[in-house]
Amino acid sequence: MRYTAAWMLILGGAMLLAGCGGGAQSGADRVCSANTFTPNYVPQLRRLLYWERFPVTVYFERDENYSDYYRTLALQGFDQWVNATGSVVRYVVVDTPDAAKIKVYFNPATKDGLTSYSYYPSSGRLVSARVEIGTKGDSAIDIRSVSAHEFGHAIGIDGHSANPDDMMYPTYTPNVPLQITQSDLNTLKTAYCNYFIGRSRVAPRPVEETPVEGTIVCPASP
Ligand SMILES: [Zn+2]
Repeated sequence: MRYTAAWMLILGGAMLLAGCGGGAQSGADRVCSANTFTPNYVPQLRRLLYWERFPVTVYFERDENYSDYYRTLALQGFDQWVNATGSVVRYVVVDTPDAAKIKVYFNPATKDGLTSYSYYPSSGRLVSARVEIGTKGDSAIDIRSVSAHEFGHAIGIDGHSANPDDMMYPTYTPNVPLQITQSDLNTLKTAYCNYFIGRSRVAPRPVEETPVEGTIVCPASP
């Protein structure tokens, strides 16, 4: 069963891969392109976003839908990216929402996932992200998979792969664990290429601009 990905708040039409992690502007700074790590699905994305530094802080909302069990499953999903990137992608769980860049919510009414974020449009640098993980059905495999998929968005993959084998394909088959493929990994590496080719990121020039909001919906189940 397939479900069409729905896009909300599509902001701007331009597919923009702005140099290394989006931070670089000048020609000399553009050390990576969509051809640096292949195969990938960078051209299929709205764009690549990035966090200025890792570890990124994560907070789990302690509302009525929270449980330690779901948190454990979510972190196992997040850890797939940590492991795949050799700990280039890292997070730290914090106890207060004020300190968090990524806030995580559980939703018992759905099996879908949803990520929204705020970022600077000129560079793609992320400001904050909100991840919603559907827990309907209580399937450990599916909650782990949705968590891994949504975390992929939350760390910068703003879009979906067209290949059903990829973690970032918009839908999944229930009770089949999602795995990070080479294309998933290469796509993320393109967003953070400075970490993978031994360059330091060139800090974006300070610009006075207002972050924009984007939301990506992942209708993964009936
Ligand atoms: Zn998605």
